[in-house]
Amino acid sequence: MTRFLWRVHPVRALFEAWLLGAIIVFGYSRLVGHVAPAAFNNGVLLLCGACGIWTVLRARLPKRGWLFQVIWELAVGFVLSLVMAVGLDWPARLTGLEVEWNKSSWGPRGITFLLLLTGPGYVATRIGVRLWLFWDRMRRRRMLWALTHAHLLVVVLAMVLAAVGMLLASPYVRSTTPLIVEAGDPMVQFADWLLLFAFPLGGLWALMTLFALAVVLPPSALFSFLVARRTTRRLEKLAAAATALRSGNYDARVTVAGEDEVAQLQSDFNAMADTLQSSLRDLQSERDTVKHLLQARRELIANVSHELRTPVTTVRATLDSALERWNENPPPTLRHDLQVMEGEVIRLQGLIDDLFTLSRAEAGGLTLECCPTDAGPIVQRMVEAVAPLAWRAGRVEVVADAPPGLPLAQADVERLEQVLSNLLRNGVRHTSPGGIVATAVSADTKHVSIVVRDTGEGIAPEVLPHIWERFYRGENHRSSDGGAGLGLAIVKELTEAMGGTVAVESTPGQGSCFTIRLRRSD
Ligand code: ADP
Repeated sequence: MTRFLWRVHPVRALFEAWLLGAIIVFGYSRLVGHVAPAAFNNGVLLLCGACGIWTVLRARLPKRGWLFQVIWELAVGFVLSLVMAVGLDWPARLTGLEVEWNKSSWGPRGITFLLLLTGPGYVATRIGVRLWLFWDRMRRRRMLWALTHAHLLVVVLAMVLAAVGMLLASPYVRSTTPLIVEAGDPMVQFADWLLLFAFPLGGLWALMTLFALAVVLPPSALFSFLVARRTTRRLEKLAAAATALRSGNYDARVTVAGEDEVAQLQSDFNAMADTLQSSLRDLQSERDTVKHLLQARRELIANVSHELRTPVTTVRATLDSALERWNENPPPTLRHDLQVMEGEVIRLQGLIDDLFTLSRAEAGGLTLECCPTDAGPIVQRMVEAVAPLAWRAGRVEVVADAPPGLPLAQADVERLEQVLSNLLRNGVRHTSPGGIVATAVSADTKHVSIVVRDTGEGIAPEVLPHIWERFYRGENHRSSDGGAGLGLAIVKELTEAMGGTVAVESTPGQGSCFTIRLRRSD
């Protein structure tokens, strides 16, 4: 079909139209004397229609600017009129049909006028074709027009059927039927039926349909447009939200209205946008964490170099003074210097060990040997190790409540000792003379808990969230005996590496309570 439509050059289309006209004229001339004379009147209209429609369908649609197109179409219409009125004159004369035409009720002028009308008819129909093609393009591109089109198709169909009904009921059918003569030749009979009945009826039907459409189509189009717009508006909003989302506006959402498929689409879109937004938020927070970690690493290096400088300087100064006084001072002074040096070296070693543990934990390289462990004896042992020193140094009592027969915990003995040692030392360090640091072990259905409670100075609420950070030292930190701010960071890392948790509760002026919860091994 597409190979036939609007494919040939207008000159060829006009030639084809003339050829078709000549064939029809020749056919009519054979019917002279066989069909009713009135049939020839209708025959002229059929001839104009056939040649005009042929040209409309065959002639190529010009593609250049609109002015060129208008001039081009008018020119083709003009030449078509000439082809019909002048070009067909020759075959009509040759076949003798002209005589018959001249005798008809329209007369020679009327016939020529009708033939000349083919050109304007062509131009009007081509305008219709353009409008149709334009509409067709629109409905393909926009859903609103596609839906309006679908509604209008129903109206057009209704009008076509209504026109058929009206036509069949009209008196024309009854007045024309008797004109069809009973002829012996079936071809003549067919031509008579075609020219007197089928064609005029078809033409009338087309005119009535056009008229009905001209009246009904505009209001129906408006109505269909308004109905279709209700649906397409929601889709347009959805499309706009999707575009906004794609261009980075992750807050874009649509209002869910109704319960149909579009509403489903709207709520699915919103859910998708929510997921996307939360995933992005997670990614951003991951990025912040990485940034934070990198910053922490930089600070770690700065702090390490700073912390290592003090003990190294002390060791060096003590060594220098020891060497200077080597000859003048008696050995007891040397002994004191060596003790200072030993103390600083122990501090240095502790610091380096802590740093090593933390950096391994950070890199995920901590080696743990977790096995079912009885936490009670470990707590007891650690308390016994710390208690004498705590009493001697600060009159702080360290006690343990570790009943035997408690369930075993999943823990690495060495790491658990390190955790307890840090907590106990902190407790002693921050408790005034006369205070108590008490440890207790207990168990529930899933966990074994170790509590280290002291009656010390406590921790301010605003400080509490920071105590687990590396190198964080609170205001109550004493430079004389305080650590580098790594103790609790190590407690947290090691406990979590063993699959446990650590929590703290503290009231300033009353004391602190650290709770380690380890998984039960059974
Ligand atoms: P440090 O080696 O400086 O003690 P930690 O990481 O062990 O570092 O502790 C960090 C900070 O938390 C300390 O400087 C101190 O302010 C506070 N802190 C820790 N344990 C206690 C406690 N039992 N009582 C009061 N404050 C504490």
